[in-house]
Amino acid sequence: MLLGRVATAVIGACASLLFVAGPASAVPSDPTGGTAKSARSAKAPSALEAAVARHVDHREQALTAMMSAADEHAAVEQVRAQRLAALGYHGDVTDLDHVLPVPADSYRISAGFGLAGAMWASTHTGLDFAASSGTPLVAVADATVTEVADAGPYGLRTILTLEDGTEVWYAHQLLSLVEPGQTVELGESIGMVGSTGNSTGPHLHLEIHPDGGDAIDPVEWLTGHDLAP
Ligand SMILES: [Zn+2]
Repeated sequence: MLLGRVATAVIGACASLLFVAGPASAVPSDPTGGTAKSARSAKAPSALEAAVARHVDHREQALTAMMSAADEHAAVEQVRAQRLAALGYHGDVTDLDHVLPVPADSYRISAGFGLAGAMWASTHTGLDFAASSGTPLVAVADATVTEVADAGPYGLRTILTLEDGTEVWYAHQLLSLVEPGQTVELGESIGMVGSTGNSTGPHLHLEIHPDGGDAIDPVEWLTGHDLAP
């Protein structure tokens, strides 16, 4: 398709070159026409011909660059769509900018925000997703990893900072797959569900801290992003 386009451009350029150059050429007229033809084909390329050749060359390079950028964009979109489909998000995902922190069918909510109980110092500051040990934990949005550490009662905890400054805490992980400073994309695996720290069984304890401040109810935050945990 690219070659076809370039060939058309070259033919078009040559046709206009002949049209421009024809009447201006100083080849002596010959009743038979034969001499005039051979005289012209033997000529060295004129400045105009060289300019047209350069123009065609530039167009070809620009087209090649455009095509490879388009191919690359399509490939990136395809990888993103496959990643999100594996998590349970099908159809047109172009405008999807938030997902749940675990695959859609892999969990049940085992404790809500604000509960009081012996497990917590005061009240429960997050939302618990009970899931099998090793279940993938995924980035809820495009983000930067700002901490991966053993955080006492939280166990192995990864903190993602989203583009709007919101901190998302993933606690009790079995293992982490990312490093501080790294950027992660929506739906990318960042670790695995575990039971490290103050935990009685494998689950994700998710906390949401707008601007790094106090924790808010993750259900409200997720609902605000069209997600139903
Ligand atoms: Zn919890």
